[in-house]
Amino acid sequence: MSKVVKFGGSSLASAEQFQKVGEIIRADKHRRYVVPSAPGKRNPKDTKVTDMLYACYALADADQDFSKELKEIQARYDEIIKGLKLQLSLKDEFATIEAKFKEKAGKDYAASRGEYLNGIVMAKYLGYEFIDAATVIFFDEKGEFDADRTDAVLSEKLKSCRQAVIPGFYGSLPDGAVKTFSRGGSDVTGSIVAKAAGADVYENWTDVSGFMIADPRIIDHPESIEVITYKELRELSYMGASVLHEDAIFPVRQQGIPINIKNTNAPEDTGTWIVGSTCQKSKYVITGIAGKKGFCSINIEKDMMNAEIGFGRKVLQAFEDQEISFEHVPSGIDTMTVFVHQDEFMNKEQQVVAGIHRLAQPDNIEIESDIALIAVVGRGMKSARGTAGRIFSALAHSHVNVKMIDQGSSEQNIIIGVSDEDFETAIKAIYSIFVETRI
Ligand code: ASP
Repeated sequence: MSKVVKFGGSSLASAEQFQKVGEIIRADKHRRYVVPSAPGKRNPKDTKVTDMLYACYALADADQDFSKELKEIQARYDEIIKGLKLQLSLKDEFATIEAKFKEKAGKDYAASRGEYLNGIVMAKYLGYEFIDAATVIFFDEKGEFDADRTDAVLSEKLKSCRQAVIPGFYGSLPDGAVKTFSRGGSDVTGSIVAKAAGADVYENWTDVSGFMIADPRIIDHPESIEVITYKELRELSYMGASVLHEDAIFPVRQQGIPINIKNTNAPEDTGTWIVGSTCQKSKYVITGIAGKKGFCSINIEKDMMNAEIGFGRKVLQAFEDQEISFEHVPSGIDTMTVFVHQDEFMNKEQQVVAGIHRLAQPDNIEIESDIALIAVVGRGMKSARGTAGRIFSALAHSHVNVKMIDQGSSEQNIIIGVSDEDFETAIKAIYSIFVETRI
């Protein structure tokens, strides 16, 4: 049996946090492969090492003196090493980094050093083997993650070591240069390692006890989700819920490896289980609520639209021509509405409208802005009657006007459009009807 354990930056921000992590790892011998992030913030005003590295490299890139900034980064690691009483010096590593910065090794190289160095410290602390991610995680010439090559090399490597630390966030290009994933990418590394190891579980340790049913900035102390499917999670992450990097789901999902989100500061909490499918009912009809503000709706009217074959294609062509992706397209007999991100649409608005007129000859086009979309997601909705009814009566009671409704054919989500200013009220109303009244 093996478990891959990934620790986020806040779990590794100081020697005290490292000690908690050490205890967690030693408490279970199956926790064999460890993926660390770079040290994160020690307090709300602190700066993440990754951000310090980006800033330091920007100076190097502009041929300015960066020695003070690099020393500050070194001090973050030295503080951890000292606190853990390790026999380790990163002096030579920092000399190499300084030389590489002077050679302008690139901003990805710079940022990756955060996890690289933390990996060295972690390996020393645990007595595990250190595997430089650049030797086992690969990108292709286009800079896309190369899953096949990575899987072949990484799984072979892991077979030969019982316990190892593999730093998160980066890998290498075919020419050997370091490349990082997008921000928060250590989650992705953890998932890739779990797949290559054929792990039984991918534990993702952070500073919250799992996913919340709704955004804690809107709902005061929302309940957390015990079990969520990959599909539900994807719907919620797409709509703005964040704890895990979006791309972290794919590698483990292919292998049916569950992810367990856990809290380093409260390891006894069960956290959230993310699974392929489950017969476990969620506690409530809904699993989660998420949403985003800042959408626009373009409402297109044309008499007899329903009989005109190809009308929808022509309308969407006008968006494609301007490289704008659409979110939802609810339609009626003689109307069709296209929802898009306001910031993407704004500058190209008149070109799109002209395009629709030219391609589809509508009778009328109306644009409405500042719309929020809210996704109410839950595998339980399929077998529960009246879910939509409850959502809408809750919204009506809170005086929220619903502008759009879209129920996905999977019957696992209902998307509701409201005006931006009603966004928080709407989420509170939905949370309250399903969770607080405990139906
Ligand atoms: N350290 C990187 C970041 O801050 C990657 C990670 O933490 O996952 O984005």
